[in-house]
Amino acid sequence: MLRGVHLMRVTPAPALGVLDLLSAGLAKRLGVSCHVTTEEFDGRFAFDPLRQQTYSTALLARLAQAPLPEGIALLGITDADLYVPVLTFVFGEAQMPGRAALVSLARLREEFYGLPPDLSRLEERLLKEALHELGHTQGLRHCDDWRCVMVSSHAVSKLDVKDAGYCASCRRQLTKNGVPERRREKRWGGLM
Ligand SMILES: [Zn+2]
Ligand SMILES: [Zn+2]
Repeated sequence: MLRGVHLMRVTPAPALGVLDLLSAGLAKRLGVSCHVTTEEFDGRFAFDPLRQQTYSTALLARLAQAPLPEGIALLGITDADLYVPVLTFVFGEAQMPGRAALVSLARLREEFYGLPPDLSRLEERLLKEALHELGHTQGLRHCDDWRCVMVSSHAVSKLDVKDAGYCASCRRQLTKNGVPERRREKRWGGLM
């Protein structure tokens, strides 16, 4: 049963405003209360100086130890570029099922690809990535529907084409797992 999501900044952390927008978007899509915690979690212990990246799984394991009320999922948001040993990078990682998830903004930013900053695109990608990882915490696996937010995406171009919402089948499973039923989700159309 998912009753709420706590969003926590993880060092090196993005601005609070980014999390506030994300929190509002998640609350609307998930139908549970979402709020940004004031404390910041120091994730620098997981930084690998050779790779110049942060070890996602180590960070997630530490995040998962944070005390949390029953039914609350913890979503860490960081500017650190995340990796797992077998992959060049990951956009995020989650316990499946579990209560902790982690998302990186590093490769969601247009600047990473040498393009001018685009805040609305960043928010859209972040919302999709957060919904994806939170879906994993609720036991969802990767989906075959290319529009579904639970499809596996290893490039921002793939993130950009999918919806910021779950397909009917993933939504059914979420509801079965205790996430409140939502009225029909609108197709994604711009910021939030
Ligand atoms: Zn995934
Ligand atoms: Zn799906």
